[in-house]
Amino acid sequence: MESIKNIYLIGRGPSSSHTMGPEKASKRFLAKNPQATHFKVELYGSFALTGKGHMTDKIIREVLGENTEIAFLPLVESSYHPNCMKFFAYLGNELIDEWKVYSVGGGELKEEGEERKGYKNPVFPHHFMEDILAYCKQEHISLVEYVDRFEAPDLNAYLETVLNAMDDAIKRGIATEGVLPGRLKIKRKAKTFYEKYLENHRFPTILYAYSLATSEENASSGIIVTAPTCGSCGVLPSVLLGMHHHHHSPRESLIKALKIAGLIGNLVKHNASISGAEVGCQGEVGVACSMAAAAAAYLKGGNNSVIEYAAEIALEHHLGMTCDPIDGMVQIPCIERNALSAQYAINASEYALMTDGAHHITLDSVIEVMKETGKDMHAKYRETSLGGLATVKRTKEPPKE
Ligand code: SF4
Repeated sequence: MESIKNIYLIGRGPSSSHTMGPEKASKRFLAKNPQATHFKVELYGSFALTGKGHMTDKIIREVLGENTEIAFLPLVESSYHPNCMKFFAYLGNELIDEWKVYSVGGGELKEEGEERKGYKNPVFPHHFMEDILAYCKQEHISLVEYVDRFEAPDLNAYLETVLNAMDDAIKRGIATEGVLPGRLKIKRKAKTFYEKYLENHRFPTILYAYSLATSEENASSGIIVTAPTCGSCGVLPSVLLGMHHHHHSPRESLIKALKIAGLIGNLVKHNASISGAEVGCQGEVGVACSMAAAAAAYLKGGNNSVIEYAAEIALEHHLGMTCDPIDGMVQIPCIERNALSAQYAINASEYALMTDGAHHITLDSVIEVMKETGKDMHAKYRETSLGGLATVKRTKEPPKE
């Protein structure tokens, strides 16, 4: 598996696969073709269906120029990954370059046929939690020590930057009012929730406030951290910084908790997928919840087995969760779902902490099941906005301006 740094990317929302990935790809293609007079980009599959709501066209034009022609071709499908795009560079009327690339989740790009697993720049020698736990037992080390043993020493500095970016997004989110972009004109709620927390001092209220703050920043194209994706970016920061501010978990421990959570996210990315277009929301908010549950279990003193159990519970009970965002925007159901999953992560950690860590279904098994469930999920529930909540008839009218 590759470094956990790749799980935590700092960038602009609202979607790691639909904005961060295409932005990265556009920059790469532009750097390769600086002499081009203009560009064309074809967006296929999920990109074509939810690209507008996710602002894929906007970010591509910001990089390649406003005159870039963008074609949405939903009927072109790929077996490699549903998020496919093809770039064309022109010098006058002459086509000088073309490039087909896939945005496979969490902002990562792959070319057709490229190995999906993180074998390219491996950092960790193990690919399954079972092997990691066995190694830790043999070496008498914790999961944090395991991460430190294989990652480069600059990981701590990187995770400090990550934590600061999470903190900044929360601070901006709880200080901002107004409505989110899009037809639904959804009112931002984080500020009100935070004000309620200042009155009631209840832990769930700060979790909701912090998660809403991060997700609302994401929906407004603010800077957030993928954990593991943009759409699911609210869960982990709210658990970490909620525990810091409410339960006084030390800041140094939050860095360690980020290592634990990153390891969980990495295992899913390596063995299954963190792309809603591939496996539905179980791979985004489900994985974020699993990461946060593991982090919370660590912060509350759980041992390696209890941490693995907390992560397993959280993912197991998100199995089958679909991705059906209204208007293709990362708002409904995403924002509320992040907040409630933050609370679920705490519940999963507390449940696991009541036990000695012994349980039947392993995290590795549930990751495998999540992958299979994603394969069986109808395409209309995989970030295409062709089914589920995206097509409900009875919605309340947006408020009049
Ligand atoms: S429903 Fe889940 S997977 Fe789909 S866009 Fe929203 S957060 Fe991402």
